Amino acid sequence: AEEFNAAVDAADALNAYLVKTPELALEAAEAADKARGSDSLKPLSGIPLGMKDLFATEGVLTSAGSKMLGNFLPPYESTVSANLKAAGAGMLGKLNMDEFAMGSSNETCAHGPVISPWRREGSNAAITPGGSSGGSASAVSARIAPGATGTDTGGSIRQPAAFTGICGIKPTYGRCSRWGIVSFASSLDQAGPMARTVRDCAIMLEAMCGFDPKDSTSLDVEVPQWEAGLSSDLKGKKVGIPREYRIDGTPGEINALWDQGVEWLRDAGAEPVEISLPHSKYALPTYYIIAPAEASSNLARYDGVRYGLREVVEGGGLHDMYKATRAEGFGDEVKRRIMIGTYVLSAGFYDAYFTKAQKVRALIKQDFRKAFEQCDMILTPTAPSAAFALGEKSDDPIAMYLNDVFAVPASLAGLPAMSVPGGVNGDGLPLGLHLIGNELDEQTVLNAGLAIE
Ligand code: GLN
Repeated sequence: AEEFNAAVDAADALNAYLVKTPELALEAAEAADKARGSDSLKPLSGIPLGMKDLFATEGVLTSAGSKMLGNFLPPYESTVSANLKAAGAGMLGKLNMDEFAMGSSNETCAHGPVISPWRREGSNAAITPGGSSGGSASAVSARIAPGATGTDTGGSIRQPAAFTGICGIKPTYGRCSRWGIVSFASSLDQAGPMARTVRDCAIMLEAMCGFDPKDSTSLDVEVPQWEAGLSSDLKGKKVGIPREYRIDGTPGEINALWDQGVEWLRDAGAEPVEISLPHSKYALPTYYIIAPAEASSNLARYDGVRYGLREVVEGGGLHDMYKATRAEGFGDEVKRRIMIGTYVLSAGFYDAYFTKAQKVRALIKQDFRKAFEQCDMILTPTAPSAAFALGEKSDDPIAMYLNDVFAVPASLAGLPAMSVPGGVNGDGLPLGLHLIGNELDEQTVLNAGLAIE
């Protein structure tokens, strides 16, 4: 317990945990001790995991990084966290994140930014762990949690994994139940594991996934034994290299890493083939219409009436209460998304923006469908740069959104995608390689990740 508490305290410097629940982790450890040697030992027995604060945890504060839910004690447990518990895992605490999972640097959180344990060589400036699952990335990278849950709407598992030198996989949309996960953009939101190794990710993912009748988009398919199926032998597999991802202005170190990744996969037996994803350049604008549109609808429930913060105005009416609650409860980035979302859904602009974005989304899906007729997996960089310093992009939303350029196409297409560490850049900061798989083919993604790792 002492060692454990010291480790959890070390996390304070990184601002990774919003709530610590050592008693829950110890409870699982004790249960595992009792189960030792018996057949009641489960795949994650006694393993203490961090939980992104987007997962509703029964009786444990779940704020989604927002002031709006600063007092929310869920009376129920999310399916994913319940699945992990059923597999024997204990919970170390709730991990910091961008507010409502909107962000790429963990700076939009109402409880202060998360700091990465990494530094640029020769500098002490605080570096972002990425976002929105930055608390998860920071805790795993700093070795204060062996694994953590993340969620990924447009890269929020993969980009922070890349920024902190760990692994993170977003499965096929529908593999993990969204029940009990605070909604951001429901047609994109997916949970997934973040851990030090591909194998750890495979073990966690197996426990997290499964059909759930409580989520209407949950896939009623069997959960494969991904860990047992791990193999770094890629003979007979083709790896697609999308020509449209060679974007002007991508730093040389990112392209060099990408080339290196191709060679690693070739060494493992895979054959590289050039593929085309012609609508890639529209993925980012499409995402930044669809995600805010869905968010504006999902966040309408935070009005001060049903749950969360409530700001009453002396002598004011219902609308004054709505306004004051939202003005006080939401941060700037969340307000920006709500404004973009309501604008693109408004009567006058619906067809020009929202309907158009849905059409482009269908074309992006089609691009991938065609590409997977020629290859078994796709390799790209995870992000267009290494982690940046805190504050570096926080005043420039467009620069921040550009960070998601390689991550969002797979999100729009609902495909499994993983980031694995590819080494460090000239400044000593980690860089990630990004593998996209065909629908339900997490195994190929994991196997290619294993070959790179
Ligand atoms: N960075 C992206 C955004 O801000 C992705 C967030 C996410 O995946 N939750 O929307």
